[in-house]
Amino acid sequence: MSRLVMLGPPGAGKGTQAKRLSASMGIPQVSTGDMLRAAKKAGTEMGKRAEKYMSAGELVPDEVVVGIVKDRLTDADCAGGFILDGFPRTVPQAQALDDAGVKLDVVVNVNVASELLVERVTGRLSCGGCGAMYHKRYNAPAVADVCDSCGSELYVRRDDTEEVFGSRLAAYEKMTAPLASFYADKGLLKEIDGVGSLDEVQARLVKAIS
Ligand code: AMP
Repeated sequence: MSRLVMLGPPGAGKGTQAKRLSASMGIPQVSTGDMLRAAKKAGTEMGKRAEKYMSAGELVPDEVVVGIVKDRLTDADCAGGFILDGFPRTVPQAQALDDAGVKLDVVVNVNVASELLVERVTGRLSCGGCGAMYHKRYNAPAVADVCDSCGSELYVRRDDTEEVFGSRLAAYEKMTAPLASFYADKGLLKEIDGVGSLDEVQARLVKAIS
């Protein structure tokens, strides 16, 4: 079970769990959000174009993200499996993955009630160095605003605000939630409860994919 997709609303903990699973399984986490943020930081045309959508909490056009994921999945480190995090986010993206001949083993939907999500997202701290994620209350770094793993400064993502979160949740509900039935129809979907400690959720995830 090594070609995985993590589905779930913003703030469900997909990225955090994908990172932990990536470390324990030795397969890469492929996060479209991380790749788009890296493109923005590098100042590429694609990064600049994507930033307009991201800062508004809207989805980046399908053709942009489909292109970067298809490229990434041809890298050698994806040959033994991968964890897609934040992709696909629309039915056409899922269809494009299928059309490209990418066979998935399991799709895990991480469930968290929407009233809990806003606090998770607005308390989030991200590491500019290694991409680790923290939460001011639930998963605080040992030293305020400093990454435990690499010592870089932590920052608050521009779209992790209450205003932008509303748009992100609306985009999720309209465009991404339908993917659960898309993958259930293919017999690939596993549902897990995303509420609990990081270790508890990871244990559920490991059980769901084994
Ligand atoms: P994330 O880091 O997964 O929360 O993604 C941050 C933002 O990047 C999203 O709100 C979107 O604007 C954009 N994004 C990431 N992945 C996708 C995707 N698969 N399709 C469209 N937009 C995406």
